[in-house]
Amino acid sequence: MSQQPTASHFINGAYVEDTSGTPIQVIFPATGEVIATVYAATPQIVDQAIEAARAAQKQWAKMSGTERGRVLRRAADIMRERNHELSVLETYDTGKPLQETLVADATSGADALEYFGGLAATLTGEHIPLGEDWVYTVREPLGVCVGIGAWNYPTQIACWKGAPALACGNAMIFKPSETTPLCALKVAEILIEAGLPAGLYNVVQGLGDVGASLVTDPRVDKVSLTGSVPTGRKVYSAAAAGMKHVTMELGGKSPLIVFDDADLDNAVGGAINGNFYASGQVCSNGTRVFVQKGIKDAFLKRLAERMQSAVIGDPLDEATNFGPMVSASQMDIVKGYIAKGLDEGARLVAGGGQLERDGFYLEPTVFADVTDDMTIAREEIFGPVMAVLDFEDEAEVIARANATDFGLSAGVFTRDLSRAHRVIGALEAGSCFINSYNDAPVEAPFGGVKASGVGRENSKEAIQHYSQVKSVYVRMGDVEAAF
Ligand code: NAD
Repeated sequence: MSQQPTASHFINGAYVEDTSGTPIQVIFPATGEVIATVYAATPQIVDQAIEAARAAQKQWAKMSGTERGRVLRRAADIMRERNHELSVLETYDTGKPLQETLVADATSGADALEYFGGLAATLTGEHIPLGEDWVYTVREPLGVCVGIGAWNYPTQIACWKGAPALACGNAMIFKPSETTPLCALKVAEILIEAGLPAGLYNVVQGLGDVGASLVTDPRVDKVSLTGSVPTGRKVYSAAAAGMKHVTMELGGKSPLIVFDDADLDNAVGGAINGNFYASGQVCSNGTRVFVQKGIKDAFLKRLAERMQSAVIGDPLDEATNFGPMVSASQMDIVKGYIAKGLDEGARLVAGGGQLERDGFYLEPTVFADVTDDMTIAREEIFGPVMAVLDFEDEAEVIARANATDFGLSAGVFTRDLSRAHRVIGALEAGSCFINSYNDAPVEAPFGGVKASGVGRENSKEAIQHYSQVKSVYVRMGDVEAAF
């Protein structure tokens, strides 16, 4: 593999190695081979990163938004120029097919850098007239922000957190998932090349304990986590103890509702995108596919036909459109759910097995006749397992779709415009789709409600979560006092 990062951590503008930390092997999911070893951050490395961030942040915050934005936009350009190299690295790190990574990872990271680079100069306060007196507000950075990533989108997550944080004048320390530690280092390298002053974007490696040490450090002002709900609960409560700001991008079990009048091929396409892209390892996936009874047979037939054209294979081959799971342990978790689906009486209509080849390959899997109480309809699987459930009418499907603690995403396929908006309006979810599924442009807020999260990434909304408002009352006359 070319262009590998040269050390485990990136602190104060340079690669830093410390082999006294716990070794973390990086495994190429398509073969099971070890492709790199990084070392978890020791307390000294964590301390170095926090001190570097603190030292650099104040000066960065004093620069104009235009100057900060220029750096981010340059970084976006470099990411686009290097898209191929970064996509190959993303494929090695995650196992996702190059066909996907070429269009969804560094490119999405570059979009975030460009978008927040553009917004940086527009982050102003307001003037509030009060007769003779007035109030003005100032939008200020939070200080040192910590980003903690999941393994499914390592480049994208590193940028989705880093870009708004930096645009607002903060410094960032990013801890990638221990499963995919490589890509964020490249983001750090590119930011420095684009002119970011040293210390503003640091990467430290490690497992949950390193994440926890960052979250509890009193020198850290904000924590943004992308991960599972159980981790979210721990990180949120640890951050609360220190009264820190948080963004929580957590898991889901999202409903995708297909009405009888839907365009069949679009609905099937939405269900495929919402279940099998990235081998199903996408938080917002529409894994509970509610299909109205009148269209059910046609839906399952068309789905089975289209699944024939899945090209499962080497993710580095651009013809491959379905790759391995990220790790042996994630594959085992998903196999456990498939076994549960069979045990609890769901009807397997496609896939269900592990491929006989090296690497962590599962077939794209579809269960039909799934009922709400089955484990595969209740728990996040985070793998290529679609559960198809039947429904009769609108009120029933809305109630069933909302009967979950999760609330990340929801989709509806129908040709009836009023129904589309009515149903989406009634669904308890943060990121919703009408006649589409899983689009995540940087311009749109992204995030969940209920247990799926707190705060929003992307769009102008993200600015609220990486800055705070100071209000200043200005009195023009004399101060009146009681005595
Ligand atoms: P995870 O919760 O196991 O780990 C996420 C990150 O948290 C890792 O970097 C891990 O090292 C760290 N961590 C673990 N314990 C910690 C602790 N106590 N303190 C601080 N950090 C800790 O999640 P995962 O398996 O890496 O990713 C899959 C999950 O992420 C799924 O649930 C998925 O839905 C979710 N996800 C959500 C989004 C979103 O934007 N909503 C996007 C991608 C993935």
